[in-house]
Amino acid sequence: MRAKLIVGNWKMNGSRATNVTLLKDIVAGLDGARAGCAVCVPAPFLQQCEEVLAGTPVAWGAQDVSIHAFGAYTGEVCAQMLAEFGCRYVIVGHSERRAYHREDSALVAQKALAVLAAGMTPIVCVGETLEEREAGATAQAVGAQLDAVLEALDTAAVARIVVAYEPVWAIGTGMNATPAMAQDVHAQLRAQLKARNADAAEVVPILYGGSMKPENAKDLLAQPDIDGGLIGGAALKAEDFLAIIRAA
Ligand code: PEP
Repeated sequence: MRAKLIVGNWKMNGSRATNVTLLKDIVAGLDGARAGCAVCVPAPFLQQCEEVLAGTPVAWGAQDVSIHAFGAYTGEVCAQMLAEFGCRYVIVGHSERRAYHREDSALVAQKALAVLAAGMTPIVCVGETLEEREAGATAQAVGAQLDAVLEALDTAAVARIVVAYEPVWAIGTGMNATPAMAQDVHAQLRAQLKARNADAAEVVPILYGGSMKPENAKDLLAQPDIDGGLIGGAALKAEDFLAIIRAA
């Protein structure tokens, strides 16, 4: 059975002062929780995560990465740098990056490769817009996003990724996919993984993201192909994040 994994995506939030309290409260509240957990924080806070979280069950990671390894790329952060700060995970292809930074699936695939090459785990985000869902094009949209990454990986590397299904219309809106809607898409994603590497499909966690909160986490996480959550807003409050971890 796949262990559950709950990952917080802090987005562009936090401060050195408030982070310490949040991180320490999360660690203190874990209290034997069975699910794995991690926080993906803005890059300037990675050193602080390393200082506070090293030796605890909470892993940490970044929210984006450059496709390049060092050089004249002003403003970029490369995978080797993230690895130096102990990151285990790097989110790639979040819908906010696809929308606001025009990242396409080919670029997301290159980012996933860069993360893997530096020994970390990419959390590959896929998800349909409201227009795509209403046009009945969900399967096609998320299918193409995942395939772009799977095609770039060698077969063995498929087992080293995490996938996150995040319907764009559910992110930060308070509107979550129903457990059945999410399970449908997760089953499709699992089948795509299986077509590429049957063994990997059994172990790769597929997380749901999009307004997951304490009130809906249990039902979403009870679905057979929902292996955890990628949590935005609710990851900024220790109490809510811990409640989701306990629901897993
Ligand atoms: C996210 O940004 O990955 C996310 C799922 O956000 P929220 O939980 O706030 O919808």
